[in-house]
Amino acid sequence: MTTAIERRTRLLGPHMTTFYRDPVHVARGEGVWLWGTDGRQYLDCYNNVPHVGHCHPRVVDAICTQARTLNTHTRYVHDMILDYGEALIAKFGHDLTSMLMVCSGSEANDVALRMAQAATGKIGIIGTDNTYHGNTTAVSQLNSSKVPVGGYQTHVRQVPSPDTMVPVGGSREGQAEAFAKGVEQAVAELEESGHGVSALIVCPYFANEGFPTLETGFLDRVIDVVRKAGGLIIADEVQPGFGRIGSHWWGHDKLGFSPDIVTLGKPMANGHPVAAVVTRHEILTSFQEAFKYFNTFGGNPVSAAAAMAVLNVIDDENLADNARDVGAYAVELLSELATRHDVIANVRGSGLFFGAELWRDGKPATDLCAAMVDEMRERGVLLHSVGRYSQTLKVRPPCVFSHENADQLVQVMDDALGAVK
Ligand code: PMP
Repeated sequence: MTTAIERRTRLLGPHMTTFYRDPVHVARGEGVWLWGTDGRQYLDCYNNVPHVGHCHPRVVDAICTQARTLNTHTRYVHDMILDYGEALIAKFGHDLTSMLMVCSGSEANDVALRMAQAATGKIGIIGTDNTYHGNTTAVSQLNSSKVPVGGYQTHVRQVPSPDTMVPVGGSREGQAEAFAKGVEQAVAELEESGHGVSALIVCPYFANEGFPTLETGFLDRVIDVVRKAGGLIIADEVQPGFGRIGSHWWGHDKLGFSPDIVTLGKPMANGHPVAAVVTRHEILTSFQEAFKYFNTFGGNPVSAAAAMAVLNVIDDENLADNARDVGAYAVELLSELATRHDVIANVRGSGLFFGAELWRDGKPATDLCAAMVDEMRERGVLLHSVGRYSQTLKVRPPCVFSHENADQLVQVMDDALGAVK
């Protein structure tokens, strides 16, 4: 009998990513739980897309109700996108008062780069050297895992990513300064080449880089350097946004800076393909003057209704507070686990975005981390790895994750660490 994996490989290609040695074939979800086609139940500790929980009834109802009433492309005037946009903008405490809705994080970043180019009249872009911002031709230039066909274009510069165990410049105290030096050099090169600097784009939680622990103000000097060169700051909030990190709604608030452009995606509508770019009115205006921009599906009534329901649920169920409290509890449990398992070299994170970095014999424990991911999957707990060497167990569950869920996660991690040694 042809398996789903064989069908998938034949149809979707041999390199379509799956997780785990034995990929989970899912059938349904609810809250923090997933069920396989074989009826097995899994604790989902990784899925940030169902931000308010798998199949949250209010989001499902909002989608169904709006789909029954009207769905259409975005050239008609419709209240839903306006109601949603105003509610979203209210979550930003500064001058980001305009937004544009798209369908994926990749699209949001693509638009953000073009906004920066339109607003500054320059094309140089600076990102970090161990990241991912999406899959369009322009945004792929920022991805470090695969060199784009034809190589990196000369207007793109990648600077060393901040890191906890191997900080830029060699010490955690000196990392902000060393990171800024990398950006200074990139700025100088872009100016020298005539491209100039249109933007620095970073995830303010450095999620794909391995979510290093960074102090408030970490980016201050960098931002100064970029702005002096006439460039803008793009905060890619696709991963840390919407209260996940607990202490703040946005990663940039946690780091204490005000970006010029913010991009949003994944968790925004609990799995419905919704993303957005939030910016200042004049930046959006220069973008619209420079490019004819239209997006058939971006912000259609059903998408906007789904996104609105997510925003309401986060507030009504106090999910940012839940992320803060349960995340702090889980980090405490993991820290205790680290005292009993030498391979845990560092425990870190904020809210419901945390993890444990594994090292063995003075080196990042890539193989052990991969074995842990599979072992935990076998034991019914789904998570994954991140970091330059995929050496960090990354936990980023739906924000309805509870204290009991954290107990289960850490107990299973304890057992799995004993088993994989
Ligand atoms: N930005 C970041 C930081 C991401 O992690 C991702 C996806 N992993 C994207 C952008 C791209 O989002 P999408 O897959 O919705 O295009």
